[in-house]
Amino acid sequence: MHLVQSPPRPHRRPAARGIAGLSEAVVDLSAIRENVRTFRQRITQDVMAVVKADAFGHGAVPVARAAVEAGATWLGVAHADEALQLRAAGLRVPILTWLYDAAELMLLGDVDVDISVSTVAELQRAVSTPSVHHVHLKLDTGLHRAGSAPDQWIELTRTAAHYEALGAVTIRGIWSHLSHGSSTDAVQSTHQLRLLRTGVRLARRAGLRPSVVHLANSAGALTLDAPDTDLARIGAGLYGIDELGIGLRPAMRWVSKLTQVRRIRAGEGVSYGHDFVADRHTTIGLVPVGYADGVPRVAARRAGVQCHGVRLPVIGRIAMDQFVVDAGDLAVEPGAPVTIFGDGSCGEPTAADWADWAGTIPHEIYCGIGSRVPRRYEEGTR
Ligand SMILES: *Cc1c(COP(=O)(O)O)cnc(C)c1O
Repeated sequence: MHLVQSPPRPHRRPAARGIAGLSEAVVDLSAIRENVRTFRQRITQDVMAVVKADAFGHGAVPVARAAVEAGATWLGVAHADEALQLRAAGLRVPILTWLYDAAELMLLGDVDVDISVSTVAELQRAVSTPSVHHVHLKLDTGLHRAGSAPDQWIELTRTAAHYEALGAVTIRGIWSHLSHGSSTDAVQSTHQLRLLRTGVRLARRAGLRPSVVHLANSAGALTLDAPDTDLARIGAGLYGIDELGIGLRPAMRWVSKLTQVRRIRAGEGVSYGHDFVADRHTTIGLVPVGYADGVPRVAARRAGVQCHGVRLPVIGRIAMDQFVVDAGDLAVEPGAPVTIFGDGSCGEPTAADWADWAGTIPHEIYCGIGSRVPRRYEEGTR
């Protein structure tokens, strides 16, 4: 059976800011590059671009490529399969992964992904996987998550030196992670740097010659003076999360369009439970994204979006797939473009605003954007 076909229409390009689906997250790769360059100018270390969690929702492969183009010399990811994805996409720079299952070790080794090791048991598992070559020993300097307890460190480094002498493994790095990395106060970070320096001295005494020592994350790299470290692991800053206000540029904007517009009368309620009841006649617009797409439900009472240059408040509850905005007496039409967040340069909300409305951090807003939201890549003109 054939469906009735509409007559062929001339191919039309979408309008300049038009979008194809219900919403899209547009990632400006030039902002990623610019943010990498900003860090390279400000810090002494090389940049390890942290593209875990699909590059904080931005898309790991395109972001990794852009970061490497702008001079990042390493990539960092949490999970093994994230590292494998980068290798499969053809990225050749060294990659460090710090969360993996023993069963994944062989695959990681096969494509020369560096792994983090915190204990002798982990080291032995790595050594017994013939393909595994490059290891970074992690010292816990105060975060108290992964990392070798300081009192296990000498044994770990001596064991590592033993295996290295046998040619079973190369200890390429020694590292730690800051507990107060996003703080403007470097007291705790400085303490952790001292502990890491001691750890490196002990490792050298055990015979290890790591080629990279690394400690700082984005904000830590800016606050902590650590010229004797080689890499900074830059995550948040890549995406324009600007914890210290150094002029980073948010790379993602999330845009949608009103799918319906209608008038309601004073006294009428909107959305589940009628949390909002209109106190006047007003125009309401439907935005076709919801908490399944990453719009935080808890933000409903404070949030707003931008439409025709005007901030329209979210009214009523945010549902799984949609929410409603109050356009007042503004002339809006179905299909009107809506910016859920952007870089703020046109007065639109930012991911940082949404984080504020939801009582969280922009990292969680970006990571929460769901798989129903297509990512599109562009090269900005700024
Ligand atoms: C996420 C992460 C980073 C990046 O931190 P940002 O504050 O986002 O720059 C660095 N190192 C480790 C171990 C991480 O898990």
